[in-house]
Amino acid sequence: MYFEHITAEDLPIVPPMDLNSNLPDIDKISPFPMQLKTRRGVGLFGTRREADSGLIRMHEAVDLLAPVGTPVFAASTGTVIGGSSTSCLISHDHGIKYLTFYQHMQNKLVNNNDNVTAGQQIAEVGGTQDHLHFEIRFPFDNARPSLGNSLPVDPTNVLYQWEVRTFQNDDDARQVIDDVSITNIQEIWRGRLLRFFLVNVSSTGRDLFLPLIDSSPANLSMLETLKLAFFNSKRVRIVWRESLFFSTIQVTQDKVSIIAEVKVLLN
Ligand SMILES: [Zn+2]
Repeated sequence: MYFEHITAEDLPIVPPMDLNSNLPDIDKISPFPMQLKTRRGVGLFGTRREADSGLIRMHEAVDLLAPVGTPVFAASTGTVIGGSSTSCLISHDHGIKYLTFYQHMQNKLVNNNDNVTAGQQIAEVGGTQDHLHFEIRFPFDNARPSLGNSLPVDPTNVLYQWEVRTFQNDDDARQVIDDVSITNIQEIWRGRLLRFFLVNVSSTGRDLFLPLIDSSPANLSMLETLKLAFFNSKRVRIVWRESLFFSTIQVTQDKVSIIAEVKVLLN
């Protein structure tokens, strides 16, 4: 298989854990990634200042909150090529080669050279951590891929794209608010990295957050439609669902649902 142009969003990645599993009480921990510095070692992809040393360091992963014992899944079909008793490095080849890396685990079920399939359990969340540290990387040396000799990419949008694809095929998860007007739209930031489009909708008691990490033409067109509807006072029909993925990285301080996908129909 060949790809003329491939981005990380195109990778056949599934979530490395069951996003429906019972999450810890996130209200007691920290409502937003911005405040995760109060919980050392948990966060989003990107630079962050270490609480103890004050040094700015790169966090090459997204941390998915989950109780100890939550099953950890291989995010894609591949071969185990490394790791310790608490971590696992898997190599994947789907026309291009990439790696996934999992850390803070216990009861590991796989060994080096084992072949694994996407969604297969490889361990549990564990040790002293209540989150899975999950990385996606592109190796510089395809013959000898390794953690050090590879480039990390942000797993956030990759996992979000999985959710968008899943949503498109899941009628049960759909919720519809029909014939409403948009009372306000606003771009907001959560942490330094996550941009959202906040849509206030009349008479529903619910505001909608759209992640702005998705720069696909379909998503940008949808945002434009929302803006046009707002500025021209058009009533809309919105199809949405709550995001499983974003609930695991704590962006629901105001009990506001995160949207996986929206369709707006001008009346
Ligand atoms: Zn981490």
